Amino acid sequence: MKPTITVIQAQDDRFLLFDTPTRKWVRSPAYNYNFNKETGVFARWGKTFEDDPKFAPAGPEILDIEISVDGCPNGCPFCYKGNTPKPATNMTLAEFKSIINKFPKTLTQVAFGITGIQTNPDFIPMMQYCREIGIIPNFTLSGIDLTDEIAEQCAGLVGALAVSAYQTDKNVCYSTVKKFTDLGINQTNIHLMVAQETLPFVYEVMNDRMTDPRLQGINAIVFLGVKPKGRAVDGWNTLRTSQYQELIQFCFDHNLAIGFDSCSAPKFEEAIKQMDLPDPLKKRMIECSEGCESSAFSGYINVHGEYWHCSFSENEVHQQCVDVASAENFLRDIWYSPAVEEFRTKLLNSEIDGCRRCTVFPQINPEFTGVSHSLEVLKNEGRVRKQQFEQQLCSSPQGRRLQHFGVWMATG
Ligand code: SF4
Ligand code: SF4
Repeated sequence: MKPTITVIQAQDDRFLLFDTPTRKWVRSPAYNYNFNKETGVFARWGKTFEDDPKFAPAGPEILDIEISVDGCPNGCPFCYKGNTPKPATNMTLAEFKSIINKFPKTLTQVAFGITGIQTNPDFIPMMQYCREIGIIPNFTLSGIDLTDEIAEQCAGLVGALAVSAYQTDKNVCYSTVKKFTDLGINQTNIHLMVAQETLPFVYEVMNDRMTDPRLQGINAIVFLGVKPKGRAVDGWNTLRTSQYQELIQFCFDHNLAIGFDSCSAPKFEEAIKQMDLPDPLKKRMIECSEGCESSAFSGYINVHGEYWHCSFSENEVHQQCVDVASAENFLRDIWYSPAVEEFRTKLLNSEIDGCRRCTVFPQINPEFTGVSHSLEVLKNEGRVRKQQFEQQLCSSPQGRRLQHFGVWMATG
């Protein structure tokens, strides 16, 4: 099938977007990507294949969008959103369409922030609309309020999904996983919130992965690092770098497929660097890991239609949002707005050894959670800007909440 071709003008550059039912690709002199809508495989490059663009100049590649607040059948003690079972605030289908239609069509995937799967009555129509306009919908659920009928509807629309495993009853997760893998969703993942306090449960699920027949069809177990936000502001501690290394080593030793949020990429890369692996393999693994991509390659919009850099940054000290409803031109009014450009500049300056750090919660970075080998090496090479870390520490926000993340692994 011949692709539809759209020309996108951003700043002084032109981008050609090619779109078919199964593929999407962008071509320009310094920013290019290929996206396979069926498998989720995504490859980005710049002037040459070796070039790595610093950000997506034609607009975000992925979007995290919150369509419900509250109305959640779970009451997780670490919910970064602080969601409760009280009546929900929902985004309507009309609001969703109005927001998504403002995005340049370079957007490839959307991760829906739902609470319960039945909380927003427009959830299925929203996913249908995404498909109509060539964007792949993904979401994370707990499964507690899933029915067979809703599972079948979702299975016909979703690209990738993740089922959160909770210690209160892991069987809800495992049965939900089986339901979706039986329905043919190959990209079914398990989400695990990883903190020092949840580490025994994390290992329990890893062991179950090897023995429980309900989990045989999953794609990967995805580790989401705790952030001090919402109900996780107190009492939940990020893993030390050494603990993260042990976890990754365990997965490799047992040949388990894993993923992780981009917030954890610096710790993952630290772990890889210290492992006894051949250098080409280390290089390949680090290439598969991408540091924080907020407002560089992705964005987040909350239920009120506010654009934030990521869902964790919402309402944090020193963070600013942009109102999407009043934006006439997404690129001009949001992607290149002063608030977004300021965040992006800080993010790009946070990079160490090719990996962007969290600028919202610097205390989750490996520099603050244990001895960092690469930091020491870089310091010796004089490449670390000490001032940058001091600034990060100083700007460390005091009021925080935590999340269960959308499927940024997405269809990959
Ligand atoms: S973490 Fe997810 S499932 Fe748990 S209370 Fe929050 S929104 Fe609900
Ligand atoms: S800004 Fe921090 S919390 Fe937000 S996605 Fe990036 S690394 Fe994660």
